[in-house]
Amino acid sequence: MLVFRSFGWVLWLFVIAPACSSQSHPAPAPRTVTPAAAGAPEPRVHRTRLPADPVVQDPVGLRVVYPAPTDVVRVRDSSFLLGSVAGGNTRLTINGHPVRVWPNGAWLAWIPFPPDTLMQFRFDARTATDSSVLLYQVRRDRGSLPREIRVGGAWIDSVSLSPQGQVWLPRNEYLTLSTRAAEGSEVRVHLPDGRRVRLVPQRQTEEVLPALRAFDRDTTKLRARQEVRYVGVIRGREFGPDAGPVLHGTSASLIRVLARAALRCVTGRSCPAPYAELVSPDSSWAVVEAALGRDTVSVRWPLQVALLDSMPIVTEFNDDTAGQGKTDSLTPGRATPGGTYAWFFPTGTRASVTARVNDDLRIRLSPGSEAWVPVADAVSLPSGLPEPHAVVGSVTLTPAADRSILRIPLTQRVPFLMTESERRLSITFYSAVGDVDWMRYGADSLVRQMSWAQTQRHELTLTVELSAPLWGYRTRWSRNDLLLEIRRPPSLAAANPLRGRTIAIDPGHPPLGSTGPTGLREAQANLAVALRLQRLLQAGGARVLMTRTSDSAVDLWPRVALAESSGADMLVSIHNNALPDGINPFTNNGTSVFYNQPRSLPLASSIQRSLVRRLGLPDLGISRADFAVIRATWIPSVLVEGMFMILPEQEAALRSPAGTQRYARGVYDGIRGFLQERVRSQSPAGVGRPGSMASPRAHPSLSHQAPAAGAPGRGVAPRVQ
Ligand SMILES: [Zn+2]
Repeated sequence: MLVFRSFGWVLWLFVIAPACSSQSHPAPAPRTVTPAAAGAPEPRVHRTRLPADPVVQDPVGLRVVYPAPTDVVRVRDSSFLLGSVAGGNTRLTINGHPVRVWPNGAWLAWIPFPPDTLMQFRFDARTATDSSVLLYQVRRDRGSLPREIRVGGAWIDSVSLSPQGQVWLPRNEYLTLSTRAAEGSEVRVHLPDGRRVRLVPQRQTEEVLPALRAFDRDTTKLRARQEVRYVGVIRGREFGPDAGPVLHGTSASLIRVLARAALRCVTGRSCPAPYAELVSPDSSWAVVEAALGRDTVSVRWPLQVALLDSMPIVTEFNDDTAGQGKTDSLTPGRATPGGTYAWFFPTGTRASVTARVNDDLRIRLSPGSEAWVPVADAVSLPSGLPEPHAVVGSVTLTPAADRSILRIPLTQRVPFLMTESERRLSITFYSAVGDVDWMRYGADSLVRQMSWAQTQRHELTLTVELSAPLWGYRTRWSRNDLLLEIRRPPSLAAANPLRGRTIAIDPGHPPLGSTGPTGLREAQANLAVALRLQRLLQAGGARVLMTRTSDSAVDLWPRVALAESSGADMLVSIHNNALPDGINPFTNNGTSVFYNQPRSLPLASSIQRSLVRRLGLPDLGISRADFAVIRATWIPSVLVEGMFMILPEQEAALRSPAGTQRYARGVYDGIRGFLQERVRSQSPAGVGRPGSMASPRAHPSLSHQAPAAGAPGRGVAPRVQ
């Protein structure tokens, strides 16, 4: 599924005893009985009988799979529930809405959800002979809902206060403050130093939940109300308790907080104590006030603002500061805090810090460009270092058996952006100028042409044109040289392009994964499809590498690392989909394939076409998506969401050998079709093979250099130093 959410077998909250008489219609008034013990692995129905109260099997067999009582759902009005009953002849209603029951007992409901924080659902299930009533509670995610603090007619929505938490920014930079409050209010922020900032009303469209934009094809759902937000700006002011240094280090304020927390625990006043009460006495916080007529409401703004030193603050990235060796040695960069990944900075890259918002650190790429990186990946360097700036020197291309290696010398490890198209790779170095005198091609036919240009005063772009469609690449630092390794396309046999290929098949999950109405776990379904696909590919002449063959949990990065280190030519991750809360599963389901890097798009399209043909489900099309398992750049990789776990017919198909075989066959056809397309696109002259002069042995300088600073061997495939 897409949104990693754990569906679990439900624990029953309140089960009401069913009537169990063949003549009893309607059922007698139900009675509430004891809830099952927390942690029970399977749902049980407790029925009341006289004189004892034994546990028996509920003949109606009503089970709720999702939402579980532990789930917190994020929904505005309607959403779905799913589960099963013992048989298809059961009539089911939830809160009075009739719910279709499939012949195998599966049910899926799309109904209005009550507007409450603790939503009540009444399930009535009855057969010709039995009936059962379940009162069931589901919690709503309050975080997404307004929380209005009122005094008379005046109110402020405390959830809407933005920003919240901790912010570090330069003295001369504006910080935007905004909040929702009653329309017509006079809204002011009172700073601890006595100054006041007026927030002015601005009418705008209410935000649509991101899940709706991503998954719902009904555009009428995107209609949203207009709302008034009050906005204003401040700059050059620190307020809120001391947030401490922008990079790691224990701040004096944190020590004070910990001391207060310990004191409260020891004295027994409250343990643990609410953070907001610990951080400071109230006088240091900003307060927002909204006045409407004679009513005034004020709320503390949970925001700590610190101003950055005007001296440069330089950081070096390391995504494995814990030294676990289980990372990809890349620090992702985003265009906005919490946004999707746009840059990948190899461990050892340096940049200067220009701001921080909670756990996102803003870095300067070049004077006109910025990116956000996780603060956890930022290693602080001694103060007083100048901002990184590099000169890019002459480049050398060296062939190896399975790759071409471009060595790009820089005077400093500055950030860069990789962009790829079908037969081109470009690197834009930030805070860099070019002095690329020589561009040495070596004897390698994979690279057709290299060029460079100083595109801006502080940005330099180096372009590599390829003679064949790009198969993969990766980057890392070796001292201050950037090594760009370009994967040589595999040599495909025209008659049977599968022969001799290594295909990594990744049965998605566990951990996590979705669950179907009758309890089929996604991890089981994925493995069943993957094992069939393995057999098909092996019979077709390929070597298959499975990232798992049992039900044991495997983390995401080890799956990718295994594929890369085993020399796989591609990675195909097998999944089955679910939906976020609030999206109608009856109108939004079908087959889709996801890719991340442009070079994986033809593989995604090919699998999508053949899978839609084999399964006959609605064609949701391919999508670019930012999933960890398909993000790596070394091999084409795609994530297949063939069916929907939560749809009763599709879950049933995934339980059946015929259904999993059709799924596997569709993926097999798609892989084969992609390779056949590649055979056609490769020139008969054997594009991309190294020249006779080219072998690593002929270039001892490539294999005898010291390991790269920062990231030696943390990658996966054997790498030329
Ligand atoms: Zn999944």
